Amino acid sequence: MPIKEKNYWLETVAEPARGAGGALPEKVDVAIVGGGFCGLSAARVLAQRGVHVVLLEAETLGWGASCRNGGMVLTGMKLPVPTLITRYGREAVQRMYAASLESIDLVEQIVREEGIDCDFSRCGHLEVACKQAHFDDYAKAASRIKSEFNHQLRIVPKNALHAEIGSDLYFGGMVDETSAGLNPARYVHGLAKAAQRHGACLFDHTPVTRISSQSNGASGSFRVETARGSLTAKEVLLASGAYTTAVTPSLRKKVIPIGSYIIATEPVSAALAAELSPRNRMIYDSKHFLYYYRLTPDNRMLFGGRAAFFPESESTVRESAEILREGMVQVYPQLRDTKVEYVWGGTLDFAMDVMPHSGKIDGMHFALGFAGHGVAAATWMGAKLAGVLCGDPDDNPFSRIPFPGAPLGLRSGHTWALPLAGAYYKVLDWLT
Ligand SMILES: Cc1cc2nc3c(=O)[nH]c(=O)nc-3n(C[C@H](O)[C@H](O)[C@H](O)COP(=O)(O)OP(=O)(O)OC[C@H]3O[C@@H](n4cnc5c(N)ncnc54)[C@H](O)[C@@H]3O)c2cc1C
Repeated sequence: MPIKEKNYWLETVAEPARGAGGALPEKVDVAIVGGGFCGLSAARVLAQRGVHVVLLEAETLGWGASCRNGGMVLTGMKLPVPTLITRYGREAVQRMYAASLESIDLVEQIVREEGIDCDFSRCGHLEVACKQAHFDDYAKAASRIKSEFNHQLRIVPKNALHAEIGSDLYFGGMVDETSAGLNPARYVHGLAKAAQRHGACLFDHTPVTRISSQSNGASGSFRVETARGSLTAKEVLLASGAYTTAVTPSLRKKVIPIGSYIIATEPVSAALAAELSPRNRMIYDSKHFLYYYRLTPDNRMLFGGRAAFFPESESTVRESAEILREGMVQVYPQLRDTKVEYVWGGTLDFAMDVMPHSGKIDGMHFALGFAGHGVAAATWMGAKLAGVLCGDPDDNPFSRIPFPGAPLGLRSGHTWALPLAGAYYKVLDWLT
């Protein structure tokens, strides 16, 4: 059977949320651009708080990265703690780390309160060391995280690693029991239905084609034009992630779109699944050019990585299937004869400083830069932005940090330099 070039998660959604039909309202309080975790989470909170909110999604709800990811609901941030503290100071980083833990609690709370059937489970995550030097750093990292944030990680030496993973490839691991896993497509569609129940108006197949600021004496508003007509909004929230278009050029210049790809095998036996991942962890390795993997609830191995640095296209998706299969068999020789059934790709939203950001740009609110932590972080950031729009104090530690633009060549829409960036990280993986 040929490999299906489609997203496995979408096949598990029995009743996807549908956008509203008909015409757009003439005037709204808030217009949200983008229907992923960030936009939907903001729409849910705004509607709960009685705000007249419309969400405009160019494709289907959740079409961007939010339906396509690994479903890993992760603690922490991409950068090492010492780097963060040097950059932002101890107090700010403590608030950032606390936000990363709170964001997982928020996902859990939403899933529970809204009754979303998305296999949410606090299964923990496991980071595995590809080199002895990486493992040697784990103890230092864990003790720093304990002392700075009072958060406990557990070091797993090589001789105890089989209790965590059925692979001999690694030099040891580090476990964080707080992280979780879920089915991202079911979560997105549950979140969309929850936002609709609370009164948010979600429009799919409604690309925003132009946004212009309208100044009317002291109060301003925005004219938002779409393929379905236009509306006036007091506020605009940009939640367009890696898929940000030329409609918002200032924001687009800040995004570095990086492709990431996933394969899913046929289901394996319960015994083999228990051998591959005895504690059903969300797993990723210690490389820059990393692999991330996990079991699905029906015991498929879902194995992802940056097989190509370019955003997804038919050819990068097809090529990625074989690259990722080889990577998977290197980790798990037991899967040599297991068929790969699905392959798909998506685009991650990186900022130049590898940090999430929120704030205002050209008078509009925005949040992006979630990279591989968006399941929890985009949910949290969307809810936070909604709070700010309702008049809550802005205590978001990511909202006032400097937001560097991407250099030409790495910006969204100018991707010629991405293979160079990919090569750079591969070299870094050899060296460090
Ligand atoms: C393959 C892959 C694996 C990943 N794995 C993980 C993981 O395991 N854990 C984790 O935490 N994160 C992971 N991520 C990252 C995570 O998926 C993202 O950070 C997160 O989904 C971003 O959510 P978002 O709402 O900001 O953006 P998106 O979900 O990308 O949504 C943006 C939406 O905006 C829409 N849009 C853009 N412009 C317009 C316009 N002009 N008009 C209307 N609509 C517009 C797009 O169509 C898109 O649907 C992964 C990402 C990928 C691609």
